[in-house]
Amino acid sequence: MDYLPPLSNILLAPLRYFTDPGSRAFGLYLGTSVLIALIIHLKQSREGDEDKGIAEGILPRQVYTHTSAMVDYIYLPLNAILYAVILSPFTGLSFFVSGHLQAALGTVWSPYVMTDLSPLWATIVFSIILALIADFGMFITHYWMHRFPLLWEFHKVHHSAEVLTPLTVYRMHPLDDILTVSVVGILTGIADALAHFFVSPVISVYAVYGLGVATYLFFLTGYHLRHSHIWLSYGPLLSTILISPAQHQIHHSKAKRHWDKNYGFILAIWDYLFGSLYVPKQKETVEFGIGNGEEQLYSSPLKLYLLPFKRALRLLRKRDS
Ligand SMILES: [Zn+2]
Ligand SMILES: [Zn+2]
Repeated sequence: MDYLPPLSNILLAPLRYFTDPGSRAFGLYLGTSVLIALIIHLKQSREGDEDKGIAEGILPRQVYTHTSAMVDYIYLPLNAILYAVILSPFTGLSFFVSGHLQAALGTVWSPYVMTDLSPLWATIVFSIILALIADFGMFITHYWMHRFPLLWEFHKVHHSAEVLTPLTVYRMHPLDDILTVSVVGILTGIADALAHFFVSPVISVYAVYGLGVATYLFFLTGYHLRHSHIWLSYGPLLSTILISPAQHQIHHSKAKRHWDKNYGFILAIWDYLFGSLYVPKQKETVEFGIGNGEEQLYSSPLKLYLLPFKRALRLLRKRDS
């Protein structure tokens, strides 16, 4: 059990979700999302589209005291503690894959520089490639989660949310997150090894920093509105390049016309290429959930953990008979 972090680290994991800039729920990211929500609310109030006060407009009681939100509030600390134990072996996967692949390549070739680009340009180009690969890894795992019935049983946990709050982003089954972290880790590890080995050992290190900066920027610019009741669309053109909060809300919709749309994390180009892009033409009223009342089955954190296994087993038995 050498890989296990100290007990104090495990128990403090829920708190670190809000204090660590590497975490999506970091206070500053939540704060900037609230600020953007406030600007949207004030704009709508001035235009006569909103008659609620600021507090009720930004944090409506029927959303934040809904039983679905209550489940999220309990599920987050439980998952944070569980992830501190089970996810730690997966977080270093990218370096593990990169290191082993470089060693394997070293038995066949000698490392050499394959590009005439200056180190600065090589770093910029590779930073962009690494960001594209990581975003594609998130997209393709999400796509599989919806397309393969067995994986869908685990991803349903996220879609069982009947209201969206910033904490719904953590309403994920552990197997869902393990698959995403593994796919992204393997893909970025392969890219890192190739860049490290064939281009320059320095650029891959800086590109990893570049990826971090791009992610922080993404989280700072209203990331949490995608799991909220606030509609923020990027308009017809930008929504074909970047996934807006409104497009992710469409992804959570119960309505059949919205099913299997907008799997993207940051970029919308993957959805465009896979034929799953949905750009809303105007503000839509969206009801969140799985559909057919199925979301009501996921009424406690225990059910969020266990129901997917029960249903996946049922699927496997059906397939065998
Ligand atoms: Zn989904
Ligand atoms: Zn979501």
